[in-house]
Amino acid sequence: MKPAPFEYHRPTTVAEAAELLADHRDAELLAGNQSLGIVMANRLATPDHLVDLNAVEELDFVEDRDGSVAVGAMTRHRTIERSDLLAETVPMLPEAAEQIAGPSVRNRGTLGGSVGEADPAGNYPAALVALDATLEIASADESREVPVSDYFIAYMFTDLGEDEIITAAEIPTGPFPPDRTGMAFLELKPTAQTWPTVSAATAVRVDDPEAEDPEIEEARLALANAADVPLRVEDAETEVEGEPLSEETLSAAAERATAAADPEDEMHADSEFKVEVAGEYARRSLAKSYERATT
Ligand SMILES: Cc1cc2nc3c(=O)[nH]c(=O)nc-3n(C[C@H](O)[C@H](O)[C@H](O)COP(=O)(O)OP(=O)(O)OC[C@H]3O[C@@H](n4cnc5c(N)ncnc54)[C@H](O)[C@@H]3O)c2cc1C
Repeated sequence: MKPAPFEYHRPTTVAEAAELLADHRDAELLAGNQSLGIVMANRLATPDHLVDLNAVEELDFVEDRDGSVAVGAMTRHRTIERSDLLAETVPMLPEAAEQIAGPSVRNRGTLGGSVGEADPAGNYPAALVALDATLEIASADESREVPVSDYFIAYMFTDLGEDEIITAAEIPTGPFPPDRTGMAFLELKPTAQTWPTVSAATAVRVDDPEAEDPEIEEARLALANAADVPLRVEDAETEVEGEPLSEETLSAAAERATAAADPEDEMHADSEFKVEVAGEYARRSLAKSYERATT
């Protein structure tokens, strides 16, 4: 099938793109076209207007801000995967990017497209939830910021208005100084090019990496594809905080993750299996983060 007819627009600034959304009620943004094209080809989306963001250069950046790093919405997965700044400050994000599909998807797909699509199996949604990111959003009338924890509301349903554009994600770096932090993004997937069965995004900050048994001061855990939204599991985080990581605390955290998971059945993985994977990948990812924080 071919997409239904639409009018194509190619703005060069965010302001111009926002005006186009304000002027045309039935308009859709186009970013890397790794998801939208499939949906339109199947006529599950039939917008009258397509607003292509690929010429909006101001949306393509990775930048160091005071106490945070920011990634523009049109930054490709490939750029995130290879960014030295992100590898240094929030290595979970490049690790999440490098596991998305194959090179052709990573060369075109963008952070904004992934967050805009809001698939609960997506790599960035879980990573950004674990990292307590804030989304920067613009419309013709205003710019606003939304904590990512408030953005994902239900299955592929978000706080984004129809006339709004995600312009960037800002990630605070203060809670996780690189010299005392380990992060990991672990996923189980049947083959390289497919979406993951379940993923775990974790971060761990220890008190003193040189100590014999470093204590975990702060931990983060978010799961992808384990519920209808990216799932932060704060009571699992609490289980490992305030002491060195041990088999007991890891098992307690894994149990919390298992209890929190509430996934849908899929063709290759029923919900029971996905719940088990959620617990096991929470455990492995926390252990990997601790290992990285302490070596
Ligand atoms: C074979 C295959 C495997 C994949 N595997 C994975 C995987 O394992 N993990 C993973 O995370 N992803 C995976 N993806 C999805 C991939 O990451 C896509 O690139 C991404 O989901 C959509 O990004 P895009 O830039 O292509 O957006 P598009 O397809 O262009 O747009 C997607 C949606 O986002 C909206 N949108 C785009 N930009 C913005 C913006 N700035 N503000 C608001 N809304 C916006 C669009 O209107 C559209 O509704 C896979 C895709 C394919 C084809």
